[in-house]
Amino acid sequence: MPYFWAFVIVIVVLALMVNYWYIVLPVVLIVVVALVLPGLIRHVRKNRYFASEEFLAKKAALASVVAEHNEIAAYTSEIRGGAKFQLGSSQTGSHSHLASFENTSAHKYRRDRNVAEYGASNVHNCSLQVVRNASAEPLKYLMKYFDIKANETDLADVENLGDAIARLENAVRNLQQREASITASIEPPAFILRYYADEFMSHIGVELSPIVVPYPVYRFEYVSAGGNSSQRTTVTLDTETIDALVDTLSRKIRFSKSAAGQRALMTAKLRAFIKKRDDHTCRYCSISLAAEPHLLLEVDHVIPVSKGGLTTQDNLQTLCWRCNRTKSNKIITI
Ligand SMILES: [Zn+2]
Repeated sequence: MPYFWAFVIVIVVLALMVNYWYIVLPVVLIVVVALVLPGLIRHVRKNRYFASEEFLAKKAALASVVAEHNEIAAYTSEIRGGAKFQLGSSQTGSHSHLASFENTSAHKYRRDRNVAEYGASNVHNCSLQVVRNASAEPLKYLMKYFDIKANETDLADVENLGDAIARLENAVRNLQQREASITASIEPPAFILRYYADEFMSHIGVELSPIVVPYPVYRFEYVSAGGNSSQRTTVTLDTETIDALVDTLSRKIRFSKSAAGQRALMTAKLRAFIKKRDDHTCRYCSISLAAEPHLLLEVDHVIPVSKGGLTTQDNLQTLCWRCNRTKSNKIITI
C-alpha cells in the first residue's frame, strides 16, 4: 500500500510538471474515493448495526450466557496462575513423530543468528549426533539430557504437568466453544465478523481471554564453531508427548519391580474414562453435559495428591468447574 501511494504521488507530480493536471487530478480523485469509500460505508454500517434494536435485543437475551463465559475466563486464568507448567528438574524410535527436526543453517548469511543459546532454560547444546539421535528417540534423549528419571517422584511430576495442561486445554477449548455458540446465536452480518470480530465481542461484553497453553519446550541444539551452521531437535510437551513419557517412565519403573505399577496412570485416556464412567455428570451437584451442552467438566482427585491421594479409579471423580473451584478454594484455606 505505501508503494501505491508513492506511485500516485509520482504520477501527480509528473503530470503537474507537464501541465496535464486537468486530466490527472480528476482521475486521482476518483481512485482515492474508490479506495476510501468502501471503508467509510462499512464503518457507518457497523455503527448502525451495533446500535440496532435487533442487535441490542439479542445482546440482552444473552447477558447471562456472556456472564458465565466471563466467569470461566476468570477461572481459566486461575488455572493458569495456580499450576506449574514446568517439570522439576522408547527404545525403538517409535516416538520419533513427537520430535521435530530443523536445519536452521544460514550459509553465508547472518552468522550472528546462529549463536548457541547457552543458559536458556530447556536448551541442551550438544553435538550434531545427539541432535539427530534426539530426533529419532525424543523421549529417551529428553530423559537422559534433561534429567527426567524413571522413578516415582519424576513420574508423578510428569503426570501432574500433564494434568495441569489437560485442565487448561479443556478450559480454553470450552471458552472457544462458548464464543462460537454466542456468535452463532446472534448471527451478525458477515462483514461484522470479517472486519470487526473483536469489536463485536466487546460490544456483547465477552471478555476474550489471552491465555494460551504454555507447553514446555525442550530443545537439542548444535551450533558449529563458526556459528554459521546449526541444527536443532525440538520436543514439545503436549498431551500426546506427556502421555507417551508417562507410559515410558512407568514401564521402566515396573521393570525395576517398583510399586508404581499398582496405581493407574494419569493420562488423557484415564481422564476420558472417568468422565464417561460418571456419565459426564458432576458428582457434587449432579449437573450434566446432557443438560448443559457447554458444561466444563474436570477430573478431580477425591483426596488430593498433595494430601497423599493416589491416582486410582476410586480416588477420581468428575466435577463441574464450579464445584471443583469451590472445593480447591476450601482446601487452600484449610
Ligand atoms: Zn457441580
